Amino acid sequence: MAKQSVENEKPGGKHQTDVVIIGAGPCGLFAVFELGLLGIKTHIVDILDKPGGQCAELYPEKEILDIPAIKSISGAQLTDQLLEQIEPFEPKFHLNEMAVSLEKNADGSWCLATDMGTTIQAPVICVAAGGGSFQPKKPPIQGIDSFEDQSIFYAVRQKERFKDKTILIAGGGDSAVDWALNLHPIAKKVSVIHRRPDFRAAPDSVEKMKALVAAGEIDLHVADIKQLNGTSGQIEAVTVTSKDGEEKDISCDTMLAFYGLTMKLGPIAEFGLNLTENRVAVDTEKFETSVPSIFCIGDMAHYPGKLKLILSGFHESALMSHGAFHYVFPDKKLKFQHTTSAKGLQEKVSSS
Ligand SMILES: Cc1cc2nc3c(=O)[nH]c(=O)nc-3n(C[C@H](O)[C@H](O)[C@H](O)COP(=O)(O)OP(=O)(O)OC[C@H]3O[C@@H](n4cnc5c(N)ncnc54)[C@H](O)[C@@H]3O)c2cc1C
Repeated sequence: MAKQSVENEKPGGKHQTDVVIIGAGPCGLFAVFELGLLGIKTHIVDILDKPGGQCAELYPEKEILDIPAIKSISGAQLTDQLLEQIEPFEPKFHLNEMAVSLEKNADGSWCLATDMGTTIQAPVICVAAGGGSFQPKKPPIQGIDSFEDQSIFYAVRQKERFKDKTILIAGGGDSAVDWALNLHPIAKKVSVIHRRPDFRAAPDSVEKMKALVAAGEIDLHVADIKQLNGTSGQIEAVTVTSKDGEEKDISCDTMLAFYGLTMKLGPIAEFGLNLTENRVAVDTEKFETSVPSIFCIGDMAHYPGKLKLILSGFHESALMSHGAFHYVFPDKKLKFQHTTSAKGLQEKVSSS
């Protein structure tokens, strides 16, 4: 897991900035830097509860060997270093929020809205949505749809919602273990169900959870879910079967199901952009889409010869930023400068 934490904006606010970046993967994060060098302010939206995109979610501990001049760096370390690098530019983060709609204002600027009721106005949008938004995989349990978003959830968007609840957490990965530890102090009761006794999560967190189980503070069930019991969207108990065939009911008023994530294009498909093979078509001069002042970089960008590599996204960020500059500062002339020699750039980078 990345060590750097970021301050998240409260959901539901109204904001204004220069560029809204959709996606806090490595390319979205580096775009903050390149835009920042040109004096451009940014807000960054991601449905995940942490920055880093695929690097943080899919391979935090794997070593990446093709970041220029860095011999080896893990997905989590790369995320940490990008966060450190962009800190002077004070990007505003809207994590745990899905960018759902984009509308044009009368003055030609954009209004991006999230599923948490946040709106951000800006003259430029930068889509850095990678392989699409991370969305939870639904477990194949009969009748689960009728409880969804009422008493069964696939993510913790607002922790307070789970205060004083009797929660059953299903899953064996980092999310299941981390949320068992995080919710245990505020919930009435936390139980964890996993089909195996071993967990695919950070060893330190698993140890902490097992200590709470040993102390009788968290119940652990090694079993499969057989049936959900409840009425009108309210779960009351879950019937489970252990490996030796024993069946029992676990009482709960809330269930959190963590069965992994999958990536889907999602709402960006409705933004009116030209798509090719489910990705956004861009030019290779500015990485601008078919809609002026909407740019796209990283894995989501489609152009001849595109390589889905982090280094390609870094290059695209630099050219996108130069394109965005003309919309953000229509009356200013952009002067190309090197960070080694331009005092102004050096001051920007060290102004934290
Ligand atoms: C196992 C694995 C190993 C890899 N190894 C390497 C390697 O060695 N070297 C290399 O260069 N590349 C590697 N890659 C590829 C690399 O991870 C990607 O190229 C890179 O992550 C792309 O970055 P990105 O910022 O474009 O998108 P992503 O990292 O995919 O981030 C996009 C973010 O956008 C968010 N998002 C999308 N839509 C929305 C929306 N509507 N609202 C809110 N948020 C949204 C997503 O939740 C996600 O967090 C690897 C990939 C995998 C899976």
